[in-house]
Amino acid sequence: MFDGLKQKLRNVQEAFGSSLMAEQPSSVEPGKQKEESPPSFARKVKILVTDGELVVGEKEIRAPLQELEMVLLENDVALPVTDEILRAVRERLVGTHRRVGESPDLLVRKALRESLLQVLGKGFDLLEYCNGHKKPVRILFTGVNGTGKTTTVAKVGHYLKEHGCSVVIASGDTFRAGALEQLAIHAERVGIRVIQHQQGGDPSAVLYDAVEYAGAHGVDVVLADSAGRFHNRVNLMNQLEKMKRVMDPDLVVYVDEAVAGNDAVIRAQEFAELVGTDAVILTKADMDSRGGAAVSVAHTVGKPIMFLGTGQGYSDILPFTPELVVSELLGA
Ligand code: GDP
Repeated sequence: MFDGLKQKLRNVQEAFGSSLMAEQPSSVEPGKQKEESPPSFARKVKILVTDGELVVGEKEIRAPLQELEMVLLENDVALPVTDEILRAVRERLVGTHRRVGESPDLLVRKALRESLLQVLGKGFDLLEYCNGHKKPVRILFTGVNGTGKTTTVAKVGHYLKEHGCSVVIASGDTFRAGALEQLAIHAERVGIRVIQHQQGGDPSAVLYDAVEYAGAHGVDVVLADSAGRFHNRVNLMNQLEKMKRVMDPDLVVYVDEAVAGNDAVIRAQEFAELVGTDAVILTKADMDSRGGAAVSVAHTVGKPIMFLGTGQGYSDILPFTPELVVSELLGA
């Protein structure tokens, strides 16, 4: 996962490290104050030696910060998110103290880790949510076709079942030929009942029936698929609006593929504005070497990532935690 970005971030950390090391003035002994440095100069000076400590200055991290900027943008991290990471790293590094002779690696690693955690948000614990919520919990999945939405509905159902929740799936993509069969096959394979009408029917009616079914049979969670494409975009949004009105979902979950990078982030934002979104699932993280969508989407949309899809099997889904992505990117 995210191998390209991971390798590049390693190089950037080295660049920070050597930049900080290289600027150590060897002529000043530890323990001695550099007397001629006036306070106003202290902020700008590369390194101020005070009582055996080095203070990191703005200028010495300029080049590695530029390198970090290039790496993030090249790996599809959205521009505002890149800016936020740079600002956070700069804020954490400039003015920090370290002992003379001490390796700057830890300092750089800590700054990068904390800055990434800051933009990654908190994650979303679906089990905790479902356990603490009135039943049936109603979840509507949105997103464009081909990104892995149908498979993801089955994966989430499988995950919930494995953790003791009963689930019913509503086949709400009545528009696309083959969608009903496809979802029915997935549902059968993971042993979950699916509620469906015939192709071309009103998806809102399917969702209504599924919620009724869950209520009558004591089912904990309703997972509703929706169309990712319709006659045109306005119609699709109208249809999703109607589905929302009828189903009254507790959660609207937007699904997209991590491999789409910045396109996924732009689409996620568009869906969030037009239909509303409570959480995001990124599929195909196993095939994504850049990691840009995973790093950017929560900060851009202002909603947490719930899961990462990591393969084609039904168990290939990881509950998202910011620590997971940061550890993946920076190493443990
Ligand atoms: P939909 O059109 O959005 O419903 O997409 P599908 O659920 O049919 O998935 C499209 C393709 O993506 C299928 O071949 C899935 O097996 C594959 N897929 C879905 N999720 C993942 C994932 O997390 N990793 C990988 N490698 N493939 C996935």
